[in-house]
Amino acid sequence: MNYLNTLAFAQEQDRNDPLKHFKERFYAPQINRQDAIYFCGNSLGLQPKSAQMYIDNEMYKWANLAVEGHFKGEEPWFNYHRLLTAGSARVVGALESEVVIMNQLTVNLHLMLVSFYRPEGKRFKVIMEGGAFPSDQYALETQVKFHGYNPDEAIVELFPREGEHTLRTEDILQCIKDCGEELALVLMGGINYYTGQVYDMQAITKAGHEAGAVVGFDLAHAAGNIPVKLHDWEVDFAVWCTYKYLNSGPGGTAGAFVHERHGNNPQLPRFAGWWGHDASVRFQMQKGFIPMPGAEGWQVSNAQILPMAVHRASLELFDEAGMENLRDKSQKLTGYLQFLIDDVHVGKDVLEVITPRDAEARGCQISMLVKQNARELFNKLMEAGIIVDFREPSVIRVAPTPFYNSFEEVYRFSEVLHVCLQNH
Ligand SMILES: *Cc1c(COP(=O)(O)O)cnc(C)c1O
Repeated sequence: MNYLNTLAFAQEQDRNDPLKHFKERFYAPQINRQDAIYFCGNSLGLQPKSAQMYIDNEMYKWANLAVEGHFKGEEPWFNYHRLLTAGSARVVGALESEVVIMNQLTVNLHLMLVSFYRPEGKRFKVIMEGGAFPSDQYALETQVKFHGYNPDEAIVELFPREGEHTLRTEDILQCIKDCGEELALVLMGGINYYTGQVYDMQAITKAGHEAGAVVGFDLAHAAGNIPVKLHDWEVDFAVWCTYKYLNSGPGGTAGAFVHERHGNNPQLPRFAGWWGHDASVRFQMQKGFIPMPGAEGWQVSNAQILPMAVHRASLELFDEAGMENLRDKSQKLTGYLQFLIDDVHVGKDVLEVITPRDAEARGCQISMLVKQNARELFNKLMEAGIIVDFREPSVIRVAPTPFYNSFEEVYRFSEVLHVCLQNH
């Protein structure tokens, strides 16, 4: 695509955008009583206007049916989580029996690790991204200790080559090969939260399996951002949150995927609770855990109805828009953003984009490494009504999302960036 650094070009892209009407379906945050330009959907997605109605329905049931709401009415809470299964399965490319919505992301990660990190003898190592999101680091470190291993020996961290910012697939695959018989688990993000790099989940899964290891992904930044095919890629397990690209509210509910090869294996160790127990006899309150088939057998507690109501509203929008359409617009938006950053930065040495330039190798986000006074640049953008985010020590992440961002907003951002760079 040939991009132009003009407002007219940006507006023309917006006119031709098949998803342009979705912007009105979300609330826009305000700065100084004006709609802000919101480029933080990678951190907290905006509120779908329909979410309120879905919550109100459940509040109404609670008020009027109280405890009877678990079993009475059209959508009893007993099975409420199942209303989310089909939409979630489409988002992550899974069979319905392979997904369940429950808990929150890090909790789900622990539950999955209990079942899928099973170190034995010399096979005890885990490969993960160096500098992974801290919650993933802490989860893995403490799981490794729980099994009596030393995290310094068990956890193998992948870092980019000297002078590079992202991992090369060939290096990831080589590391898996090198660990060989010592490798118990590969746990990676689907997309790195810091650089926005998409990992080749299919190739990583294949290599992990060839080494005899289990392969899982944290899709916090991938779910609702890029098309994923967990079932076809034969990924063993995955987890994700719903408040980032999935627009389901602060502290929202989360997802877990267990491939069908494992889902019906009652022998797999797990930490159980009553909601994972065979639903037909759950209320007999008997001794002896019998897991439900599929991913539902990993449920622990009864479902969080209110966050799930919000998630339901959001998943309906995904079905309406279509993941492929969202991805198509996302690639164009980040392509335009990359083009404009290059254009306003030409002849300067203030910024370096650390996100891959190949649109296939990134999601909705572009991360700019700011070489001096990074905080100052960030503050100026925020003062101009552009909400981006800052990651220590010096990265500004800019995420134009296809649901509610426009080409014009990307253009307006570049205008402000242009002015900021002149005096930087
Ligand atoms: C956002 C994010 C988290 C957050 O974990 P919660 O359990 O939802 O608080 C964890 N890991 C990654 C990779 C993330 O991007």
